[in-house]
Amino acid sequence: MNFLEYAPAPESTAILNLREQYGLFIDGEFVDGRGEPFQTISPATEARIASISNANGADVSDAVAAARRAYDRTWSRMSGRDRGKYLFRIARLVQERARELAVAESLDNGKPIKESRDVDVPLVAAWFFYYAGWADKLDHAGLGANPRALGVAAQVIPWNFPLLMLAWKIAPALAAGNTVVLKPAETTPLTALIFADILQQADLPPGVVNIVTGAGDTGAALVAHEGVDKVAFTGSTAVGRAIAKQIAGTEKKVTLELGGKAANIVFDDAPIDQAIEGIVNGIFFNQGHVCCAGSRLLVQESIHDEVVDRLKARLSTLRLGDPLDKNTDIGAINSREQLDRIRELSDIGVAEGAERWSAPCEIPENGFWYAPTIFTGVQTSSRIARDEIFGPVLSVLTFRTPAEAVAKANNTPYGLSAGIWTDKGSRILAVADQLRAGVIWANTFNRFDPASPFGGYKESGYGREGGRHGLAAYLAPATGVDRAAAAAPKAKSATKGSKR
Ligand code: NAP
Ligand code: MG
Repeated sequence: MNFLEYAPAPESTAILNLREQYGLFIDGEFVDGRGEPFQTISPATEARIASISNANGADVSDAVAAARRAYDRTWSRMSGRDRGKYLFRIARLVQERARELAVAESLDNGKPIKESRDVDVPLVAAWFFYYAGWADKLDHAGLGANPRALGVAAQVIPWNFPLLMLAWKIAPALAAGNTVVLKPAETTPLTALIFADILQQADLPPGVVNIVTGAGDTGAALVAHEGVDKVAFTGSTAVGRAIAKQIAGTEKKVTLELGGKAANIVFDDAPIDQAIEGIVNGIFFNQGHVCCAGSRLLVQESIHDEVVDRLKARLSTLRLGDPLDKNTDIGAINSREQLDRIRELSDIGVAEGAERWSAPCEIPENGFWYAPTIFTGVQTSSRIARDEIFGPVLSVLTFRTPAEAVAKANNTPYGLSAGIWTDKGSRILAVADQLRAGVIWANTFNRFDPASPFGGYKESGYGREGGRHGLAAYLAPATGVDRAAAAAPKAKSATKGSKR
């Protein structure tokens, strides 16, 4: 096949005013952590980016104390309308600094700049705009009149969408009137620290948002801290399970957004060209480091060969390489650890009898890379059909009838997302109805909108993020005392309950 040659089109890093080292963001200031600092690197080159502070238990306590003070003294006393103004301001600053954030995200995470520029950062702004609009309308969120904030939220996020996961966590928490201590992932702290700078620029009152960098220990100390009222975690099912155990029996509220192994179901009447693009987007977007990735392709037997051939042809045109190059489709794998896991599971796939095909592409010498890969002849019992690989690896399975498609799709401990490709609206509705997955896309995949709730069933976790539902995770119904107060004038004068 002949390819068009593209000249390199790297985005400049000159826009970044990187510091040599970054502190923790506590009580509105950058402070040094007491733990041993660590380096964050670019996974595309393995070059060091900056030195990052490491928060130990005492630092976490300082951050929780700052969040509590801010909650008691400012944030819980502020009107929803004023909280909304801060959120609007943050959203606008994210837009103003969009290019800087996109470059930093691609540098630190390894994702292609066209994704951080066109997907991650615009969604971050959209999330803050959306929840800014809710801040003064909480009475209308369907949670009863006068719902209350929970207090201090401990938030722990993964490395695959560092800034977007931060937005999913911080925007609803602040809109609902909570204060926050957030821990980014060890390998991708950079954009959270630039975001802290944005918070200073926005004049957000000190302590309303605190950011503690570190590794798993820092996250564990935060989740366990007794000053925390709410835990919001996005990450692996294993850590989610440990957190659920750890906080069982406490008063802490919890939401867990965990892993997935989504079925992307293609019926024989599907628009094939669109379906091919949807399959590619479903599993190769963000190098497959996507919790809701369509990692199991269920294709109707009669079109299996055609779909696989076209998929291979399409994958052969994807451009793997420098994440900062605007032509890049597939960036770097986020860490050596993750690359090892992808390799290990792929090798298991071969050992279990599936056939592996990888797109022909040149792998750069330094950094962590994995070529887009398809497995055919995959058995439902195979590890690559059951375990989350979290990389650019697609397992192809077949089915003959809609009932078989549904049975195979649901045959997983996860239940985060699914996709359906067919020409028939009635089939979309019938199949969607039977799938045990939190999000189901029809004739599209990996679409996100702040107004749309997102979250899973079974081992994919519990609670929802996004939309009105995402507010419920950060609010409690008014207490008996509040309700009595709200009801009293109503009984006498038949006016509505008090507004915030
Ligand atoms: P992970 O190991 O569970 O880490 C997630 C976060 O938890 C990181 O900040 C991590 O810190 C921290 N952490 C590790 N051990 C902890 C502990 N004992 N207590 C508290 N925090 C702890 O997950 P990952 O491998 O980085 O991320 C990939 C996983 O996230 C995948 O399974 C993916 O499906 C899931 N994910 C789910 C969603 C969703 O919305 N459902 C979205 C994105 C990703 P360090 O990074 O510093 O170790
Ligand atoms: Mg990790």
